[in-house]
Amino acid sequence: MKKKIDHYLKKLFYINRSLTGNGNRKTLKVLSEIIPIKIKEVSSGTKVYDWKIPDEWNIKDAYIKDAKGKILISFKNNNLHIIGYSKKYSGFLNWKNLKKKIITFKGDRNSIPYRTAYYNKTWGFCVSQNQYEKIKNSKEPFEVKIDSSHKKRSMTYGEYLIKGSSRKEILISSYICHPSMANDSLSGFLLSSILASKLRKTKTKWSYRFIFVPETIGAIAYCNLNENKLKQIDNALVITTVGGPGNFGYKKSWNAEDKINDAIEEVFKENKVKFITYPFDVKGSDERQYSSIGFRINSASITKDKYYEYKEYHTSKDDLKFVNSENINETLNLYLKLIKKIEKWVIYKSKNPYCEPMLSKRNLYSKIGGSYNGKQNSLDLISWILFLSDGKITTKQISNKLKVSENIIKKISKKLEKKKLLIEI
Ligand code: ZN
Repeated sequence: MKKKIDHYLKKLFYINRSLTGNGNRKTLKVLSEIIPIKIKEVSSGTKVYDWKIPDEWNIKDAYIKDAKGKILISFKNNNLHIIGYSKKYSGFLNWKNLKKKIITFKGDRNSIPYRTAYYNKTWGFCVSQNQYEKIKNSKEPFEVKIDSSHKKRSMTYGEYLIKGSSRKEILISSYICHPSMANDSLSGFLLSSILASKLRKTKTKWSYRFIFVPETIGAIAYCNLNENKLKQIDNALVITTVGGPGNFGYKKSWNAEDKINDAIEEVFKENKVKFITYPFDVKGSDERQYSSIGFRINSASITKDKYYEYKEYHTSKDDLKFVNSENINETLNLYLKLIKKIEKWVIYKSKNPYCEPMLSKRNLYSKIGGSYNGKQNSLDLISWILFLSDGKITTKQISNKLKVSENIIKKISKKLEKKKLLIEI
């Protein structure tokens, strides 16, 4: 497995990705070697909720040359050198004007920062502090060229569905919009593809819908174009930043009590893996869209060196030295263990959500009412199970809450199902 991950890390790392463009198509084509992804296009200008699909951006080359024609900065050396979505430009500039178009990274002197200007027609370069000094000390005027295009074409995304025996789905989302950075974006969509390739070989209870979208606009477009599909989705996993050398962690879903959070914590604890818990935050990745009021899907992420948390984040040092196949493989195994847990979920839903059902007419209530001895008895358990079974909580969670073994909870739930009070979903 590690060999396979290594092969694809190298094959995918250097592709220039963005919100749109040929790099994204090429990326999805490479991922199609792992799983048969359906590649889809959304036309530029399409309205998706409050947003609009931007024009397609492609870039062939970009550089800064000194007065003697010597190349100082070249897009061909590193695609982070250009601000994402930079417009076409060519001209001669002196240092005073050129420096306004250059962004550097404040930390490490050799790191090139990653910046974008998707919705703002501008252009610019990103360079390391050392490169900045070098340009500054070179002979002006500088020749600057950005050979890019913005065209009315489309935004590309990928989708792959693994059908289980239930129509209920788990959404597994990763984003394909970052250029050459290994942990942010690449490690996520690569792990996601490999996870899908493993799952498709097994029989599953749940259906798993994998999507590969540009972050934010791609997820928003997907939600808008697939509202009906989203109604089948119970939980989502947003897979990102899974291959760093640092700590495992997980970002909780919007409802801290949700089953997905419990399942992830169980996986960590059972495997004796140390982890950091990140509470839900409206900052982050595409869980922002899936958790919005209209959908409210509990979406969580298991990470290894989570975005925002490592010093190489959004720089050229988030590279193939920072990320390796061993780390990705470790996180992959945790995700596989999580799926195993999800497959074991047993969830019941009450058929009488409005007020409590009448137990005596179903022979579930003692013939003589009124006694109270203060101890929890089987009638209390029945009442609790009926009270809690909202179609979202698992029997495992009920067992933890009531401190009664899961087997007993399952047995009583089965009995209540026979009495037509509950239905297993
Ligand atoms: Zn990012």
